[in-house]
Amino acid sequence: MFKPQDVMDPNWIKQPTTELWKAISPLYAIDEDTWLRELMPLAEPDEHELKDAEDKATGLIEQVRADGDSIHMIDALLLEYSLDTKEGILLMCLAEALMRVPDADTADALIRDKLSVADWKKHLRNSDSLLVNASTWGLLLTGKVVTLDEKEDGTASGVINRLVNRMSEPVIRKAMQQAMKVMGHQFVLGRTINEAMKRGSEYRQKGYTYSFDMLGEAALTSKDAKKYFDDYMSAIEYTGNFVDKKVQGPRPSISIKLSALHPRYEVGQEERVMTELFDSVLQLIKKARSVNVAITIDAEEMDRLEISLHLFAKLYRDPACQGWGGFGLVVQAYSKRALAVLAWLAALANEQGDLIPVRLVKGAYWDTEIKLCQQKGLDGYPVWTRKEGTDVSYLACARFLLSEQIKG
Ligand SMILES: Cc1cc2nc3c(=O)[nH]c(=O)nc-3n(C[C@H](O)[C@H](O)[C@H](O)COP(=O)(O)OP(=O)(O)OC[C@H]3O[C@@H](n4cnc5c(N)ncnc54)[C@H](O)[C@@H]3O)c2cc1C
Repeated sequence: MFKPQDVMDPNWIKQPTTELWKAISPLYAIDEDTWLRELMPLAEPDEHELKDAEDKATGLIEQVRADGDSIHMIDALLLEYSLDTKEGILLMCLAEALMRVPDADTADALIRDKLSVADWKKHLRNSDSLLVNASTWGLLLTGKVVTLDEKEDGTASGVINRLVNRMSEPVIRKAMQQAMKVMGHQFVLGRTINEAMKRGSEYRQKGYTYSFDMLGEAALTSKDAKKYFDDYMSAIEYTGNFVDKKVQGPRPSISIKLSALHPRYEVGQEERVMTELFDSVLQLIKKARSVNVAITIDAEEMDRLEISLHLFAKLYRDPACQGWGGFGLVVQAYSKRALAVLAWLAALANEQGDLIPVRLVKGAYWDTEIKLCQQKGLDGYPVWTRKEGTDVSYLACARFLLSEQIKG
């Protein structure tokens, strides 16, 4: 049975990939407490590391505090209306849903439903930001207007109130939609790669770079898959050919979702995945390599992890990738298999005498993973069920990735 400390043994990753592969599946839903106890020593910082982390964190905090410009307007709004407040959750639900509501009546009903139940008053003057306070006033007044509407009293003033509400609804709707657009810009750099590249230029001049991710759903038909494939192809081409003389920093890369490139990207269709999906990604890799744009395969659902690794290995061993070092993948630390996957990837890179760029993240689909297991009535979960588990796993994985045996 695989033990976390094994990865720190320099000879461990020198084994054949087939050997290291055997460690992955048994960890799918391993008992959480047992596995956490075994991972802990790898995540534990020593005194020197703790001191380093503390100094660095202090330095960063001092830098941010000294820079009056560091918390931009929308950041201040998000800080005040964070997702651990009822009001923050309501705003996020509204931001997500409002954009997709096609008609004005439903949009008004949604705004009425969401804004009338929250306590906006308690956020007044909590923040130093003018925008936050102005928005809070707006939300407070909107909430008041829509609450009045709910009362539906039959008195003369009630009728006047309702009239005011009806007349003010389009104004509120417009203002809300505008606010949601501003918030959308915070998370989405551009509607097209050209727009994203232009909006990213300011930060790139400061030395930052981007890994461009395309928002979208999984492909349900071959037509969808073809559209996403064409979009990826042109994004790669555009990124590769984009020249901004003012930018000196590292080149941007493109992140790819396998689920967007094939309508049957699923375990039961392994043969099609390893041929048809393989061919699509290979074409993207060849184009990316020719224009010097690195590619990262995004990590998606837990049940597709092992098939995605099979596909990755086949692509990585293809001559189109050999000696490139620009083809990488994302690994999610909330998976109980994360460390074993990294050990296997290290062996794969070793086997090819090459690099595999790895982006270690915690994982974005936690709620979905939990819900899926509960729907199926499974006994265990492939992800940690406590945040601390994910954090420990992240630190253990990071320690392995930064260790000498990987560098060597
Ligand atoms: C450039 C980039 C690329 C990314 N690509 C991917 C990708 O391909 N695939 C992907 O899945 N994500 C991806 N992400 C998202 C990434 O997984 C999240 O940003 C990350 O989880 C947030 O971590 P944090 O350290 O900022 O937040 P933190 O607040 O420290 O952690 C939040 C995370 O903890 C975990 N968590 C929360 N509650 C629990 C719980 N009860 N039990 C166990 N774990 C819990 C979840 O993973 C949650 O996302 C990407 C992010 C970036 C910036």
